[in-house]
Amino acid sequence: MNKLNITEHVSLKKYTTFRCGGEARFFAEPSSFVEVSDLLAFASSESMPVFVMGMGSNILVSDSGFDGLVIRLGRNMGEISLMDTGDSSFEIDCGAGAPLALLGNLAVKEGLEGCEFCCGIPGSVGGGVFMNAGAYGREIKDIAVSVTYLEAGEVKTVPASSCEFGYRKSIFTKGDSVILGLKVRLDKGDASAIRAYAEELRVKRANSQPIDVPSAGSTFKRPEGYFAGKLIQDCGLKGFALDDSGAQVSPKHSGFIVNNDGRASAKDVYRLIMYVSDTVFGKTGVRLEPEVRLIGDFS
Ligand SMILES: Cc1cc2nc3c(=O)[nH]c(=O)nc-3n(C[C@H](O)[C@H](O)[C@H](O)COP(=O)(O)OP(=O)(O)OC[C@H]3O[C@@H](n4cnc5c(N)ncnc54)[C@H](O)[C@@H]3O)c2cc1C
Repeated sequence: MNKLNITEHVSLKKYTTFRCGGEARFFAEPSSFVEVSDLLAFASSESMPVFVMGMGSNILVSDSGFDGLVIRLGRNMGEISLMDTGDSSFEIDCGAGAPLALLGNLAVKEGLEGCEFCCGIPGSVGGGVFMNAGAYGREIKDIAVSVTYLEAGEVKTVPASSCEFGYRKSIFTKGDSVILGLKVRLDKGDASAIRAYAEELRVKRANSQPIDVPSAGSTFKRPEGYFAGKLIQDCGLKGFALDDSGAQVSPKHSGFIVNNDGRASAKDVYRLIMYVSDTVFGKTGVRLEPEVRLIGDFS
């Protein structure tokens, strides 16, 4: 087990942006796809459930934790390299553990356009592919050329067109693959305009979202024809809290449920998510579904 660098009983609190939740029974941060593969083989031999995570910015882990192996793809698997294709576009190869912000910032620095939206998303490239993360009218699918992943012990690379990217979903949302990398292609543009646009998005985000309070971003998916935040606000729930646990509908953006000072338990956050969803349904007939992925037991 040492060979695989697995640790036991690791609190996942500090690995999630919600800053709550329990322990991983087993936890590993591999440095190569061979290590990922070995970890999966180990889990399979022990009939142990596996959860693969990136920067934990779109998950709520239950207070009882995850009774299995958590594989965290972080900076160890986050190499980024830039290649000139020779025709005014560039390709960037990103390891799944690289922060999306690093990809965005590199593109901005190099005067490459189309990746500015990544700068403010606090997730990893792997999580971004899995979720088809997006903001301000662009998504991962708009820049992706191909995705490399591990499935049943084999490393495969598929074109982006095979990834079934949709609103906050991809083909990987359905399966058990581990995303290892993403290749994007970007065109050269006007470097100062690109910098100015990235800054405009940064300011917009800082002014409208509670980015300095623990959360997992937009708690709910956007229901067809509506905006979750607007529905919640119209139901009078902006700033609403069930109790003084720390779980609250953000007073700054109703689409975010926040965990003030990281005081709330996952159960407190979950109860509020359910309350908001039920209240909005009761008042409007629209059912809000969590965008945040629930990990572990919430029954
Ligand atoms: C303040 C804030 C603002 C946000 N703004 C945005 C936004 O503008 N747009 C947006 O789309 N999202 C936003 N998010 C949500 C989040 O950042 C994205 O969903 C991000 O893509 C999640 O990446 P992650 O690495 O944190 O994934 P995690 O939260 O670690 O995991 C999310 C899911 O992806 C899976 N996963 C992660 N990595 C892999 C991998 N390598 N292989 C297979 N599966 C994997 C996990 O199993 C899990 O199901 C925001 C979050 C916060 C806290």
